[in-house]
Amino acid sequence: MAEVAGVTVDTGHWIGGERVGSAAEFTDVSPIDEQPIAEIARGGAAEVEAAVTAATRAFPAWARTSREERARLLHAIADGVDKRVEELAQVETADNGALIRSHRRGVIPRVAHNFRFFADWLLRLGHDDFETRGHRNHVSWDPAGVCALITPWNAPLMLATWKVAPALAAGDTVVLKPAEWSPLTASLLAGIAAEAGLPDGVLNVVQGLGTEAGAALVAHPDVRRISFTGSVPTARNIAAAAAPNLTPLSLELGGKSPLLVFADADLDLAVDLAVEQYDNAGQVCLAATRLLVEASIAGEFTEHFLARTERLVQGDPRDLSTDIGPQIHRKHFERVDGLVRRAKADGARALIGGGPNTDLGGLYYRPTLFTGAPEGSEILSEEVFGPVLTLQTFDTEEQAVAMANGTRFGLAATLATGDPERAARVTEQLVAGTVWVNCFFVRDLRAPFGGSRQSGVGREGGDWSFDFYCDVKNTVVAPWEK
Ligand code: NAD
Repeated sequence: MAEVAGVTVDTGHWIGGERVGSAAEFTDVSPIDEQPIAEIARGGAAEVEAAVTAATRAFPAWARTSREERARLLHAIADGVDKRVEELAQVETADNGALIRSHRRGVIPRVAHNFRFFADWLLRLGHDDFETRGHRNHVSWDPAGVCALITPWNAPLMLATWKVAPALAAGDTVVLKPAEWSPLTASLLAGIAAEAGLPDGVLNVVQGLGTEAGAALVAHPDVRRISFTGSVPTARNIAAAAAPNLTPLSLELGGKSPLLVFADADLDLAVDLAVEQYDNAGQVCLAATRLLVEASIAGEFTEHFLARTERLVQGDPRDLSTDIGPQIHRKHFERVDGLVRRAKADGARALIGGGPNTDLGGLYYRPTLFTGAPEGSEILSEEVFGPVLTLQTFDTEEQAVAMANGTRFGLAATLATGDPERAARVTEQLVAGTVWVNCFFVRDLRAPFGGSRQSGVGREGGDWSFDFYCDVKNTVVAPWEK
């Protein structure tokens, strides 16, 4: 047990409806001040085996549970989340350093919404039958089995429930392995689900390191689906581990997304969109970190952008006036700093920031904007996952599209323009799972979500989630003789 932000959190695993410890533990450190906040059970192959066994045992009964009952339980979990928004927000902020105001206002309420949305979607899931020469083709979405869900630290509970909710709705059972830098809210979720009446073994949580618990889980032959959100190098390891079993994978990975600002854009809106990319201290997969601005307005845009960023307040994420909190972990902070140093060595110039916030110390990194990065340099092609943006200019629409598409990623793209025809033309040519026109981050859970190129494999959301988490079956029935 640990006491975090006044909330008691169990630090063990949740397997088959029981709290289970491990002989080994790892230390969970708060990014706010780098102080230890909990000693967490460090699971490995044995705990994974126990969890997959519990999930396998629970599967037949859960798969047979009516859609209505599954939906009712998912709504009951959402009710439990709604009752604990403040607790969950406090623990998440202590654990991953994201702003308390964002957790309270958007992120934790979205957790409840994930459960409600997939519960309701389940009830309307279906397809009209197809007729072929009097034969009826009936499509059904059958539960697939045990799902391994592996999640990152930047929005821990929100991203975990984006997978847990559809998997449970689909009639699958789950083993969730949360990120080791932010393990706490997964433990609270297990408690909420149990209190809501979810049967034992339907949701299991194994804590531990990716290379230990995570690796054992994705290699397990009884796992029927792997859904992973995280980095490209880890995705490669997971895909390799899944290959011998041919376990179907959904991979939601990183990006180096562009924000295209055309001269015909509303300048204030474009600047707002650009500044928004520092949200969550830049630790957002979808962040449009490459600002591509039409040369004729680049000077004015930059002036307004710098004026706006100067007003951003960096500090303790529990403080309501804070706009930018810390980086998640010392290792991550050093990775960000390494990329910034090498960008400078490559000839890029920091118009703002360009280093740690020495006034605050700890893991606080100054919002940074680079210009003049040489074409092909690391800072223009590698995901930083910190508060670091680059600015480049273009002269023509064709050039803008080529620059936007010029990385190995394709997660998202944002454009600011006042011309609907241009928006349609450019959108059509962009390689991205999500394109935003004159907006950012708005997303309907009915729509598909995922990345192109190395930003991911597959799509989740609405029907796409059920297509992934289910064995979709076509049953062809010959006409019955009269
Ligand atoms: P990461 O890849 O280091 O870790 C993610 C998870 O994988 C963790 O739970 C970790 O323990 C686990 N893991 C590590 N090695 C493993 C292995 N060999 N087998 C199984 N599991 C293993 O990623 P991160 O640093 O936690 O998250 C940041 C990355 O996630 C960024 O690249 C970001 O863009 C990406 N991300 C993508 C999305 C999206 O929806 N596309 C959303 C959020 C974050």
